[in-house]
Amino acid sequence: MGAVASGLRALRWSEVLRWPSATVRQGGDEVDASELAALRDSVRAFCDEHVRPTARERDRAEAYPAELLPGLAEVGVLGAVIPEEHGGAGLDAAGYRVVIEELGAADSSLRSLVSVNLGLVARSILRWGTEEQQARWLPGLARGELGAFGLTEPGAGSNPSQMTSRAVRGPDGWTIDGAKIFITNGSLGAVTMVFARAVVDGQDRGITCFLVPQDAPGYVGTQIHGKLGLRSGDTAELALDGVRVGDDDVLGEVGGGMKVALSALDDGRFSLAAGAVGLAREALEVSLRYASEREQWGGPIAGKQLVQELLAAMHVDIQAASGLVDAVVERKLAGVRCTLEVSTAKLFATEASVRCADRAVQVHGGYGYVDEYPVQRLLRDARGTTLYEGTSQVQHLIIGRLLTGVSAF
Ligand SMILES: Cc1cc2nc3c(=O)[nH]c(=O)nc-3n(C[C@H](O)[C@H](O)[C@H](O)COP(=O)(O)OP(=O)(O)OC[C@H]3O[C@@H](n4cnc5c(N)ncnc54)[C@H](O)[C@@H]3O)c2cc1C
Repeated sequence: MGAVASGLRALRWSEVLRWPSATVRQGGDEVDASELAALRDSVRAFCDEHVRPTARERDRAEAYPAELLPGLAEVGVLGAVIPEEHGGAGLDAAGYRVVIEELGAADSSLRSLVSVNLGLVARSILRWGTEEQQARWLPGLARGELGAFGLTEPGAGSNPSQMTSRAVRGPDGWTIDGAKIFITNGSLGAVTMVFARAVVDGQDRGITCFLVPQDAPGYVGTQIHGKLGLRSGDTAELALDGVRVGDDDVLGEVGGGMKVALSALDDGRFSLAAGAVGLAREALEVSLRYASEREQWGGPIAGKQLVQELLAAMHVDIQAASGLVDAVVERKLAGVRCTLEVSTAKLFATEASVRCADRAVQVHGGYGYVDEYPVQRLLRDARGTTLYEGTSQVQHLIIGRLLTGVSAF
């Protein structure tokens, strides 16, 4: 590790992570580049020390990374995009991308936990929440009392409008009944954005988002085990049985739930694309190391043309995916809506991460098939990223609709 990175490790992370976003926004000059590089070195150093060495054991045991959360909160990662007045680090899109990319390289289960906490939940509360809702939930999210995003149901995945969870308005608030599935942070978090059909005076008023405390009576989150990848994350099914919330727990407007969900997914998919770039980069880095050390036919396999083809293809995928994420960062910093760029980056980066991790297993030969090296975990984790926050097919359809103006869903 270089002197700069060692020096930064001596600092409190929250100090390293905080800077006025305007400084980052200027882009292009030496100072900004070095600040982002310092941030990257800091997150990487934390991951090298605390995350990478234990990732295999967590993956094998499907063990939730509870022991890492206080450290991640302390250094500012869990509150990376939450404004300082709410206890966060106040990073903008450029800084957030760096944090997520590094977490994605080290452990995608952990990256997923942070992406949902920040990309989907914190950003939604910032965009749609009242001052009271922001003050109630954001400081806790930054401390590691995590947030979850409860959209998917057993009968409503790619098409959330088929959801059947209901929130019935009574004289003293709302009563929510229903079921959700595959909800990240859904059983070990503090709050879940629950999407349900609002029913007022017997009339369906449309999908609405509620901020539901996970300790509310009637909320039961149960972890799902046996996942192919992302095995140390908390992926839960939710039973919602007469959960009571008030009007002040509605996020956004009654009937405005899909607006909340779609804006959240724009942020979530950006985060996912950045994490996928990190995963693909890790696949290449470990493959380069292995290929230069592994000798067959009297020399390192790195000197074999067909191995170089695998490595070169990984490099090309990573550069392309990274460029697409750059395009999203640029537009987010400019404050421009960028659903087309986000879906394009999510689709390409997640598919590229699967290709890169698969090639990495090939470079490692039989050793890639066991978990002595991280590449098989990378492949299993990458596979999940093409499924959630809209499958690859759904991303194609979003892109197609935006290009043609015609929905083919
Ligand atoms: C690890 C993990 C974490 C998750 N975390 C969350 C979370 O935090 N919150 C949350 O709400 N959800 C979460 N999900 C759920 C995820 O978003 C859904 O699994 C995803 O949206 C797909 O829904 P589905 O599984 O019901 O598949 P389906 O919608 O049943 O799709 C099955 C197949 O049909 C294809 N398909 C569907 N519709 C079309 C169409 N119109 N045209 C062409 N092909 C189509 C799909 O692409 C897919 O290949 C998570 C899932 C996983 C695996």
